[in-house]
Amino acid sequence: MPDSSIPAIEVLNLHRNFGNLKAVDGVSCKINPGTVVGFVGANGAGKTTTMRILATLDYPTRGTVKIGGIDVVQYPAKVRSKIGWMPDSFGTYSHMTVIEYLDFFARALGFSGQDRIDRVTDIMDFTDLDSLSNRLINTLSKGMGQRLCLGRALIHDPDVLILDEPAAGLDPKARVELKHLIRILAEDGKTVLISSHILSELAEMCDSLLFINKGKIIHEGSAESLKRDGSGTTIIRVEIHGNKEKIAEWAQMSPIVKLKETLKNGVRLEVESVEPEVIASVLGRMIKDGLSVVEFHREERKLEDAFIDILGEIEAQEAKAAKPPKLN
Ligand code: ATP
Repeated sequence: MPDSSIPAIEVLNLHRNFGNLKAVDGVSCKINPGTVVGFVGANGAGKTTTMRILATLDYPTRGTVKIGGIDVVQYPAKVRSKIGWMPDSFGTYSHMTVIEYLDFFARALGFSGQDRIDRVTDIMDFTDLDSLSNRLINTLSKGMGQRLCLGRALIHDPDVLILDEPAAGLDPKARVELKHLIRILAEDGKTVLISSHILSELAEMCDSLLFINKGKIIHEGSAESLKRDGSGTTIIRVEIHGNKEKIAEWAQMSPIVKLKETLKNGVRLEVESVEPEVIASVLGRMIKDGLSVVEFHREERKLEDAFIDILGEIEAQEAKAAKPPKLN
């Protein structure tokens, strides 16, 4: 078990330039042992570049990265013994069977004799590949291939797993299987950093999410905090008995409530707060003001919407900062 007082992954002011392009532009984060963290961002945001540096496959232009307290640039071999890396593309091993492939990597990692046989058997069992042990890799489905790739990353029982887009191109069943394996690994104490540009998929399996945009971290927190923090407002659906015009008029009088939409039996309102006590006070005032409320509930904000709101805020800030000062 890794030392729980040392971050499993620690990134400090990481930069990676390709010529003039700042692919990673000052990323910092700390990930505690045993957590599953989603790394989210659009195509070209800087996920793979960051992960490749974490996996000792590339060098930072500037900044430091430590895995379990060990610097990736100074001690890459030590770091490699602690990490399992699953790249976004498989590589070409079409001439090998599943068992030959795992056995090859187990040998390369220094396993021998019965120890090697046991390790390969355990991995095939965990990834549910035992019935496919003699299948050629080029006959595997995408989902089976991803399980094999994950198996390869697990051979040396690493503390930290870095998985680049493991669910890309998988059908729903294969995704569920992959999610299940990742949750088991987390319960076993492993730290998992997993990238994707599909937010909802990550939200289900991750303890927290790191959002990257143009090489910078723009948000960090749980899926719930993202939904709350994105806009600072709450949408409420209200159904009332009787004349629904009354609630629209009521909303116009309220300083913190805006009418979003009129519905068949009520309205959708936007409250300028995410605090539960403020939301509760809105309901209290409706009742006090004589509205016959039949139903009152907060609408779940979609993660994608929340992310787009955050991006919008950042772009607005950037545009403001870029504006030349007015000359008198
Ligand atoms: P995707 O979801 O498409 O994989 P990503 O978030 O993983 O995107 P990166 O692959 O890290 O993004 O790329 C970040 C930026 O750096 C992109 O503009 C990419 O074109 C550029 N880039 C990545 N590797 C190199 C390289 N070796 N040489 C030049 N530019 C590179």
